Amino acid sequence: MPRSTVASVLASLLLVPLVTSPAHAAREAPRLPEAVGAGGVVSSVDPDASQIGIDVLRRGGNAVDAAVAVAAALGVTDPFSAGMGGGGFLVHYDARTQRVSTLDGRETAPASADADLFVEDGAAIPFAEAVTSGLSVGVPGTPRLWQRALQRWGTYSLDRALRPAEDLARRGFTVDATFNRQVTDNAARFADFTSTRALYLPAGAPPPVGSTFRNPDLADTYRELRRDGVDALYRGAVGRDLVAAVRQPPVVPGATREVRPGDLTAADLRHYDAPRREPGQVRYRGLDVFGMAPPSSGGTTVGEALNILETTDLGAESPVQYLHRFLEASRLSFADRNRWVGDPAFADVPTRELLSQRFADSRACLIDPTKALTSPVAPGDPRNPVPCGTSGEPAATPYEGTDTTHLTVADRWGDVVAFTLTIEQEGGSGIVVPGRGFLLNNELTDFSFTPVTPGVPDPNLPGPGKRPRSSMSPTIVLDHGEPVLALGSPGGASIITTVLQVLTGRLDRGQPLVQAIAAPRASQRNTVSTQAEAAFLAAPEAQSLRDLGHRFTSSREIGSVTAVERLPDGRWRAAAEPTRRGGGAARAVRPSRP
Ligand code: GLU
Repeated sequence: MPRSTVASVLASLLLVPLVTSPAHAAREAPRLPEAVGAGGVVSSVDPDASQIGIDVLRRGGNAVDAAVAVAAALGVTDPFSAGMGGGGFLVHYDARTQRVSTLDGRETAPASADADLFVEDGAAIPFAEAVTSGLSVGVPGTPRLWQRALQRWGTYSLDRALRPAEDLARRGFTVDATFNRQVTDNAARFADFTSTRALYLPAGAPPPVGSTFRNPDLADTYRELRRDGVDALYRGAVGRDLVAAVRQPPVVPGATREVRPGDLTAADLRHYDAPRREPGQVRYRGLDVFGMAPPSSGGTTVGEALNILETTDLGAESPVQYLHRFLEASRLSFADRNRWVGDPAFADVPTRELLSQRFADSRACLIDPTKALTSPVAPGDPRNPVPCGTSGEPAATPYEGTDTTHLTVADRWGDVVAFTLTIEQEGGSGIVVPGRGFLLNNELTDFSFTPVTPGVPDPNLPGPGKRPRSSMSPTIVLDHGEPVLALGSPGGASIITTVLQVLTGRLDRGQPLVQAIAAPRASQRNTVSTQAEAAFLAAPEAQSLRDLGHRFTSSREIGSVTAVERLPDGRWRAAAEPTRRGGGAARAVRPSRP
């Protein structure tokens, strides 16, 4: 570097604190991977959002009130993962009735969609083009889910639950490295939409780390929802603006990107609901594990894998055999997921059979302790399980985005919420609804664009009003009707393996919860190579797994878990990532020593 350049770089470094002092005056709230205490706990990826949840609990709100408040706050501080332009799934434990229920806030395709939604001239359009388009935007389910959850279990009105998030959007928060990186990663496409550019690239660049970011448009939108209810979106002015943005994306004049419009209508918004669904349920080591049933594949795939693992005492296995079995159970259950799971309103999904121990036994029989299976392995037939049998051609695991967010809450009464919400890809479709301050999802790219394996029936092709298959796996574990653990993660299809790894790490291997979350991750989804983090590959077990025939590709980061667990003395532990995504924020209403 020439000396003059060195000098000017040094000068600019020295100047940084001076020129940006107002921004740097803002201090980021601390991130903590663990909090133990009474009165309720919250765990999310973001300190401001977790604090809002704690404030709700402290003022007497319950777990659902807090979950909606936290989710709305994440729409402000974690807007590239989730927000009111997206969808999600919520699992709820009611301490009074000891019942677990779920709400399905998954986005739906427009009524005009058919199996060829992403096909042009006989071929699938390029994935990246589908992502940044109006075509991939499904009807947002998150606001309707908030409303249904509050109606059913909450004590707060939507007005009250959204107030802290509105204040946060107006007052602003301190930009952290993750927020800055997410805008930087998306800068090229954000720059191509007038609305997105204005909001996230002010002055032509991503908001700097340490600066204060405000979103007054989103604050006003939340205020409209507080005043008019979610009808503001499903029947009102917010919805009109949303439909306009989908049908005519606000592309910057002169931008060369091909941005296809979508065919979403006001009627699609009007017809949307977030129905209650029976949870997927398995028994594992005497505990009851509840997850999300289809259209998410989370509950059936985590559940089937647990059932497969139930056949061995994982706690007694060597570290290598434990990991070998974890990878093989994931491999097999993904083969079945890909073949059988889609929106149950459109495909005949054998949910109960996928979760049966008899089916899992027929699959577990394929696991050889001395040798890894070779993927893709063929699915089994859950309706007619044949020991060690397979049925038909394997179906591949398609790509899904990895940037959802998950929050977990428990209140003083013992109610628990596990809530995963998303706009699919990091930054969703890249389209901010003009004047409204929130990004639209690209959830419809979770459909198969064409049958994933020619000749194999694919339950996940697009259809009118259909919900794309998800991998979101909000999970609650009960012991004789009492909650012991709740968790979830982002990560697209790797959500499933992440939740499975943390569950087995905690329940079978006896790892403390934060350690189970921090453990290096691997994700096997019926592909030839298993994705693994660098720390996993550096561990001695990785070589032994290779010796068994496992192959690995390196992945920067897999998942970002938040969880809560009940302690024997009745207190709760909230847990989050120590380092992934910059570390999460666990909080307790009345913190005490672990
Ligand atoms: N769209 C994915 C799903 O529904 C989630 C994406 C993510 O984790 O970012 O499973």
